[in-house]
Amino acid sequence: MIKTLVAIALWALGGWLLGAWLGAATGWALFALGLLIMVLVSGLQLSRIARWVRHIDAPPPPSVGPWDEILAPIYRKLKQNRQDLQERSRNFQRALLAAEALPDGALTLAPDKSLHWCNQMAAGHLGLNLEQDRGHSILNVVRSPEFAQYARQDRWDKPLILHLTRAGHTRTLMLHLAPYGVGQFLMVTRDITQIERLENTRKDFVANVSHEMRTPLTVLSGFVETLLDLPEDALTADQRRHYLELMAQQAHNMQALVADLLALSSLETTPNGPGAPVHVPALIRTALTQSQALSNGQHHFDVQVDDGLRVVGQDSELASAVGNLLTNAVRYTPAGGTITIVWARQADGGACYQVRDTGIGIDEADIPRLTERFFRVNRGRSRATGGTGLGLAITKHVALRHQATLDIQSTPGEGSTFSIRFPADRVCADTTGRMSTKKDAA
Ligand code: ADP
Repeated sequence: MIKTLVAIALWALGGWLLGAWLGAATGWALFALGLLIMVLVSGLQLSRIARWVRHIDAPPPPSVGPWDEILAPIYRKLKQNRQDLQERSRNFQRALLAAEALPDGALTLAPDKSLHWCNQMAAGHLGLNLEQDRGHSILNVVRSPEFAQYARQDRWDKPLILHLTRAGHTRTLMLHLAPYGVGQFLMVTRDITQIERLENTRKDFVANVSHEMRTPLTVLSGFVETLLDLPEDALTADQRRHYLELMAQQAHNMQALVADLLALSSLETTPNGPGAPVHVPALIRTALTQSQALSNGQHHFDVQVDDGLRVVGQDSELASAVGNLLTNAVRYTPAGGTITIVWARQADGGACYQVRDTGIGIDEADIPRLTERFFRVNRGRSRATGGTGLGLAITKHVALRHQATLDIQSTPGEGSTFSIRFPADRVCADTTGRMSTKKDAA
């Protein structure tokens, strides 16, 4: 401003001096010319400033006269604001990334319960599309009467357990609403489908065990009461013996059930150690002796065992898997049938234990369920032959703990083939327990 006033004063002085020398008209003309030059320079400076305003991120144009003093602080302030904004934006992005990394779903709702924001997890849980659903009431997006009732409450002391079906798939979600900020709401969602399934499995298991125990116990206590109530001489020695044999059978069934339950529990609780070389042929021979005793000469056994083939694993676990498949073959094969046992190297360097029978076979629909606990195709037949319904569940578990697979092929009326396939890196090449390689296998 002072510079402008000084410039006007200088032009006026020049005009006055020229006017005194060459006449007033010349003096005024010089003064007018001076003012005109000042207006033109100002116009030029203003146009440079206008151009800068259109690209305000760049530094202001240099040497724009009196505007220098105005533009410099404006630019400094702008630069400061821009840095603050960038810092805030970075913090916001960090908060968003943290919210996305949450293992739970999170969403925020406006005071009218319209969707404001949600992370990917919440979008997946509730089937939300943030672009489309933002601004829409959550009650219209999550269509469930229980949820509507829950969301309309004033307080949310407890979470809501909601079963939501989408695309034919039902999930169990735990939702918890909480007020935050000024009239806004935060909702946390958690998928508890797996937890609920495990809880149901646990309840079913307890119910099944109780049921399995009750049957032999009822029979046993029935016989005991009968024997107690009858006078000493009411039964002949043969009849008494017959009753005692039936009681022993029930007690044996209960013992077998408890033994299988303990085996399962030990498989679930014992850490899966590296194991040691297991002499599988010896395990097969022991199981064969027991199965032949069970068969009582009614079946023909064909044994094809590679005597030098061992696998690294747990001896007792493998013994139970080997025995289970063999006794099943005897129990589900009518008299006169043939049971083939194979223990051999595979083309891929692995080892396979296979039990084939010419027994009753299994319906294709039942095969995937055979390894479920307490699943039996024919409950009566299984019980009559001392089955617990846990044998194949144990066998599958043992196979998994040895990175092996249990494969079941069967044709009703023709027979079944059960195979446990061990991977090459479980196979021992010799008695020292050295692991085989693909080359060894070839
Ligand atoms: P179980 O003690 O009842 O034999 P498992 O778990 O060993 O229990 O077997 C589950 C069911 O699978 C059996 O009840 C039976 O119906 C069927 N099963 C198992 N092995 C055979 C087989 N070799 N032939 C026909 N059915 C079989």
